[in-house]
Amino acid sequence: MRHIAVVGTGPAGYYSAEAAQKLFGEDVSIDMIDRLPVPYGLIRFGVAPDHQSIKNVARRYEKVALSDNVRFVGNLTIGEDISIDELTDLYDAVILATGAPEDRALPIPGAELSGVLGSAAFVGWYNGHPDHNEVDPPLDGTHVVVIGNGNVALDVARILSKTPDEFAGSDIVLHAYEQLESANTEHVALLGRRGPHQIAMTPKELGELGRLERAAPRVDPNDLPEEGADALLEPGMRKSVTFLREFAAIPESFRADKSIEIDFDFFAAPVRIEGDGKVEQVVVERTELDADLRSQGTGETYTIPASMVVTCIGYQTPPIEGVPFEHGRGRFANDEGRIMPGLYCVGWAKRGPTGTIGTNRPDGYAVVDLIAEDIGEGAGKTGRAGLDALLVERNVDVVTFRDWKKIEEAEADRAREGSPREKFIEIEEMIAARS
Ligand code: NAP
Repeated sequence: MRHIAVVGTGPAGYYSAEAAQKLFGEDVSIDMIDRLPVPYGLIRFGVAPDHQSIKNVARRYEKVALSDNVRFVGNLTIGEDISIDELTDLYDAVILATGAPEDRALPIPGAELSGVLGSAAFVGWYNGHPDHNEVDPPLDGTHVVVIGNGNVALDVARILSKTPDEFAGSDIVLHAYEQLESANTEHVALLGRRGPHQIAMTPKELGELGRLERAAPRVDPNDLPEEGADALLEPGMRKSVTFLREFAAIPESFRADKSIEIDFDFFAAPVRIEGDGKVEQVVVERTELDADLRSQGTGETYTIPASMVVTCIGYQTPPIEGVPFEHGRGRFANDEGRIMPGLYCVGWAKRGPTGTIGTNRPDGYAVVDLIAEDIGEGAGKTGRAGLDALLVERNVDVVTFRDWKKIEEAEADRAREGSPREKFIEIEEMIAARS
């Protein structure tokens, strides 16, 4: 019997478990460990609450979770309740699928001012992540600056712009729904340090900005390259740029009915955030692209008002004591997923924060091939029985998948009309809902 522990129960974790089941059949026992009492990581806490169809992939993970040789062990923190060394002693293979839940820091003066939030905090706040319940975004001001030109920046701009009606069918948590309802946002500036051909926004997500009830996007036609140059782009990117061209052509009469403007500010790198105790404005430097398409400052600066700033410039994986880490890239040091024989990583913890949910599937399958090479038939480790003995000894109260199903049911029961669930946002509430 091979014993595998997967740390983290988001997409990368479940695809790895699925792959291990496929390859090893009944000769594997898999424990899926999460520090939270609820599974699915990014699906629950990262995917936007108004993108419910993307969240349906959790049904596939549930199938894996419900099979006999897979078990969910929630509310168990590596580094607190149990160390990595203890885990690698108990299991033939430990797979770190811990994602990249922390913000990359924006290295400019003023980034520490009150009212400057990272996307992990802001997204975690509207998605009910227990780590970010206390975030109190200053939504009473009119001007929000969103830094970054990726899909997270789009999520943030869209969530800030939607009317309460547009959240119908979503699972945005009540505190965020209510605070957004009374927000005073009039202007969302999306700062991109490069140009329209360098955005990291996918067409479906970008297109949504053009169909909002009370908000309209604005693109300065002068920022767009010659239309002929779009032919050189790969098809997805070309489609995204076509949306930007459509936004640039929106007539002023259409904007007249809209109370929020989402302004694409290209070739704009933030150099300083200013304010007296809290954010008031962002100093931005005009940029141009060098021969390698990197942004270079031109020396020309200007100032934009900001009552709140959300940085959406990527994420990083938190290091775990004793596990080699690549600090520059914010991920575990690994060779194609192998950290060392017996210890592996997948998903964002392996690659850094890029790619879609589906990108994690091949990662999971590839790492299980490495594991098969390294561990053979297994080394007679104790696996789940050993973990259970240790948990009893340490009096750790873990949450099972059956418990999760009760929590899930309780969240569905208390949902607002039309919503699939009202998430519990405190760990204690989640744990209490299982009984
Ligand atoms: P991302 O796609 O890597 O975009 C990060 C953006 O931040 C880039 O535009 C980057 O510009 C900019 N940036 C980085 N450092 C900066 C700095 N110091 N100053 C100014 N700008 C800076 O990251 P993300 O938006 O966090 O998304 C993470 C992953 O999740 C992506 O793969 C994304 O597609 C995925 N995702 C998908 C969906 C969806 O499919 N619906 C939703 C959300 C996220 P440069 O290009 O110039 O570096």
